[in-house]
Amino acid sequence: MDLFFDLSLMRDYNNKSQIARVLTENWVSRNAYCPNCGNELTEFENNRPVADFFCENCKEEFELKSKKANKIGKKIVDGAYSTMIERITSDTSPNFFFLTYNNDNLKVNNFLIIPNFYFIPDIIERRKPLSSTARRAGWVGCNIDITQVPKNGLIFLVENSEIVPKEKVQSKWKGTEFLRTKKGESRGWILDIMNCVDAIQEETFTLKEIYAFEESLKLKHPNNNFIKDKIRQQLQLLRDKGIIEFKGKGNYKKVKL
Ligand SMILES: [Zn+2]
Repeated sequence: MDLFFDLSLMRDYNNKSQIARVLTENWVSRNAYCPNCGNELTEFENNRPVADFFCENCKEEFELKSKKANKIGKKIVDGAYSTMIERITSDTSPNFFFLTYNNDNLKVNNFLIIPNFYFIPDIIERRKPLSSTARRAGWVGCNIDITQVPKNGLIFLVENSEIVPKEKVQSKWKGTEFLRTKKGESRGWILDIMNCVDAIQEETFTLKEIYAFEESLKLKHPNNNFIKDKIRQQLQLLRDKGIIEFKGKGNYKKVKL
């Protein structure tokens, strides 16, 4: 993997956003790989509405978002809100590649994937409708709120200009791929508890510390009167899947994927 864009491609374009698209897409097709099976990626024909790349081997699809920035930031601007929610609820959301690059030396500084099994409506933020004077007046876009994605769902291939070994990327992907089989509310609960675990700074934690999130979880799930039971159930599942370890007497340890 090489972190630089192929600047010779710029010659044929004048428009800045077009140049950015050509350089980033070309970089991804030369350097990225399928985090599920390790195969190289194929680019879809231009203007296909849903995804930008796919894996011929395992059929995973990928959408690319890129931004001129040194840091990932908290949000990724995406397309129409209603389309996004529809895709998530019908489980046809693609995986998301997110690329940031430095504009001075046109070099990739971050490149990560958020697998589609991390997508739930909670991470999609509705933007304000476009004003009546806009060309597409009333159109409602959305942002992907990265702060709502558990750390295990942010799989870096390049982080702060450091290339992450492929084996590490693939094992992180495999580590939580079980989420694919969980749908709707059940996926939501697991991700909620993964976020609670992430919110604790230390590598070890207690059941009591997770119970401290009971109130905020109750706000999210007002119809559930058994929040503590739900918490323990998710912790057990995360233990069975190798995401955390039980150390006995209500003590837990995070497992680094
Ligand atoms: Zn693949």
